[in-house]
Amino acid sequence: MTAPLLSLAQILNRLALTARRTLREHHPAPDGICPVCRTAGCEVAAAAREVLATITQLRWHHRGAGSVARPDESAGPTWEPSSR
Ligand SMILES: [Zn+2]
Repeated sequence: MTAPLLSLAQILNRLALTARRTLREHHPAPDGICPVCRTAGCEVAAAAREVLATITQLRWHHRGAGSVARPDESAGPTWEPSSR
């Protein structure tokens, strides 16, 4: 029980990372078939997209709705760990 508790920001960051990676792995082939699930309209990818969208919204809300850039284009370090 020595693992430090994660802050909400860290949790969201990890979630986003996982979702992004999932999306990459479940990226449909040109014929629309997911290479992992071998189905069209992969539900895993859809779920990952939803997670990402939700996290993005949370992030904007968190940051204050002032400066707006396109969410998905910032592939770099996404979340500054706000140490309080
Ligand atoms: Zn899939």
